[in-house]
This record gives sequence, structure tokens and C-alpha cells, in this order.
Amino acid sequence: MTSARIVVLGGDGIGPEVTEAALHVLGVAAKRGGKSFETRDELLGGIAIDATGEAMPERTREACVAADAVLLGAVGGPKWDDPRAKTRPEAGLLGLRKAMGVFANLRPVRLHAALADASPLRRDRIEGADMVFVRELTGGLYFGTPKGRAVENGVERAFDTLVYDQNEIERVVELAFRLAAPRKKKVTSVDKANVLESSRLWREIAVKVGARHGGISLEHQLVDSCAMKLLTHAKDFDVIVTENMFGDILTDEAAALAGSLGLLPSASLGEGPRGLYEPIHGSAPDIAGKGLANPVGAILSAAMLARHSLGWTDEAAAIERGVDVAIAKGARTRDLGGTLGTREMTNAVVDAMSQAA
Ligand code: ATP
Ligand code: MG
Repeated sequence: MTSARIVVLGGDGIGPEVTEAALHVLGVAAKRGGKSFETRDELLGGIAIDATGEAMPERTREACVAADAVLLGAVGGPKWDDPRAKTRPEAGLLGLRKAMGVFANLRPVRLHAALADASPLRRDRIEGADMVFVRELTGGLYFGTPKGRAVENGVERAFDTLVYDQNEIERVVELAFRLAAPRKKKVTSVDKANVLESSRLWREIAVKVGARHGGISLEHQLVDSCAMKLLTHAKDFDVIVTENMFGDILTDEAAALAGSLGLLPSASLGEGPRGLYEPIHGSAPDIAGKGLANPVGAILSAAMLARHSLGWTDEAAAIERGVDVAIAKGARTRDLGGTLGTREMTNAVVDAMSQAA
């Protein structure tokens, strides 16, 4: 096989530090599996604004749509927070998602019993909890029109629109069912069908898609109830699929359960194998450049990249096992109450990969 092509967008703050760590681990896993990849660095976010005036330069767009996968660090920071600025780092990310045609944001959340001290949940509620959120990324309340302001009889009003068409729902729910097949074979579709018309359509389509996937169970949950059950019954979940805003809120809740933002990866996928992979944390300007960032979210993002975009199932599993073993043995960065820096944590994962093999 020819070498896989990965575009690397380190971005801002701790982004470059954690992507470097992730590529190091991916390199070790690839070498061991007799695979190879080449990387190309491009600019996105604040660093791109400084260099070119644009958050997503054309050169970056072209490189990303031609690559097998894109690994991103983080974008943004106080330097570019001026509300009067012509463009913002986050605009680069939105533009990139659009250019790549990704519509589903995957966020796996595995709770480690060894990290019970860092989680708000009790140890017995954590052990074995392993779920993946599939958040619809391009529609729903955040993008629906009309949205805006109006003054009527001297009273100011503001409005947003929650709208989905059947195709937008179908493609993201279909992806959720495919993800569930090699897992615990359970899809939880989250909506607010007792009050929202868009949720009633969501439910109908989920049932229709479910009928095509024998052997995978489908349950519906109202979003408020889901928010509660994440705290009380985290172990009951497998794949959770939901609309944009519900997913935004629920994934932050689930991230808090894991113990640190620094641990969690994400993937944004569309129809084909190409995807955009990034840790869920932001640019963490308070610790940028100090070598203190937890690289695990980025390392696990590289594992997702290997699995979903390159088809490197064994290499992905080896990386994930390495993370599990390193954490079980007590490797901790500062966000987890430990003392390790980014490099040391990365080395702990690499060492654990050799032992686990
Ligand atoms: P954004 O708006 O870009 O999502 P944010 O303001 O929500 O960013 P982060 O930049 O993720 O938040 O940082 C939130 C807090 O978590 C900060 O104190 C930061 O230092 C810490 N943090 C985030 N990521 C990591 C990491 N990988 N390792 C250690 N600490 C982290
Ligand atoms: Mg944030």
C-alpha cells in the first residue's frame, strides 16, 4: 500500500505540542504494523490569521480535501478574541468542516476506573462505561434559518430555527448504526419529541434506519432524561446519536465525567473515509508552550484517524491499549493530579504499547 497522507494543523496554544505527541505515537504504532504515512503541515486558526490574514488559507483547504485525513490541534486564544476583528480563528474550523463535507462529530467517552478520583462519579458507576456520541454537526438550531432580530410594537424579539430535513437525519443516524455494529449493538437516539416537531421527524427516521439494521437495538430518550442518566447509568450507553445543540451540551457533560478535558478525542466524518480528527479541548493558553499539556486526547484522536480513515484497526487498538495501560499504571499529567509533562506522558503511552503487545 502507498503511504497514507495526513495533513497536520497544529493550530494555536497547546495544539502544536499535542499533535506532535500524537504523531509520535502514531509513528510507533505504524512502524510496528509495517505501515507508513507522510505528513504535511499547514496553517489554521490564529496562526493562519497572523501569517495570511485568513483563518483558513486556500492552500490549507486544498491540502485537506486532497488528504486521507486531517489531524488538528486546537484553534483560538485571547490574542484573536477582539470582537471587532475581521475574522476569528474559529471561522477557520467552521470553514474547514464545510470544505471537507463532514456532518457527524464522534466523541468516544471511556471512563477509566483508575481515574475515579478525577471524576465526579463513583467508581462503581464508572467501571466499564464506554460510549460514543454522534452529534449532528451541520444543521439544527445553530444553522437553521430564519434567525435574527425584529422589533414589534417597540418590543425587541430574537429567534432561531431548529430545522432538519429527512436526509440530514438519515445520514447521521445511519452512521451511528454502523458504529454500533462492532460495539455493544445499541443505539440511543436522543430528542425532545414530546414538544418539538423536528424531534418527531428525527424519531421517525431513526426507526426507519433501525429497521435496516437487524441485531442492533434502538431506544429513544428525551434529552433531559439522557442528561440525568449519564450521571446515574453511564454504563447503559453504547452509541448515542443526537442533533447539534443537544449533542453540544451532552458531550460537555460526558467530558466532565471522564475527569479531564485533556483525555478525550473526536472525529468529524462525512460520507467517505476521510475525516478531521482533534482532541475536544481548546488551545489552553494558560499552559501553552510549557510542555504541560495532556497529550492523551490528541493521541486517541490519532487512533481514531488510524481506524476510520486509514483502516488500521490493529494499530488503533494498540494505541488505545497503550493509553489504558499507562493510565492504569499511574501515569498522570497535571490536569489529572499528577506530575508528568507532555513528553513524559507520551513516552509512558509508548512504553505501555510495547508491554501490551
Ligand atoms: P475553547 O473555547 O477553545 O474550547 P476553552 O476555553 O473551552 O477553549 P480550553 O482551552 O480547553 O478551554 O481550556 C480549559 C481549561 O482546561 C484550561 O485551564 C486548560 O489549561 C485546561 N486544559 C485544556 N486542555 C488541556 C490539556 N490537554 N491538558 C491539560 N489541561 C488542559
Ligand atoms: Mg470550550
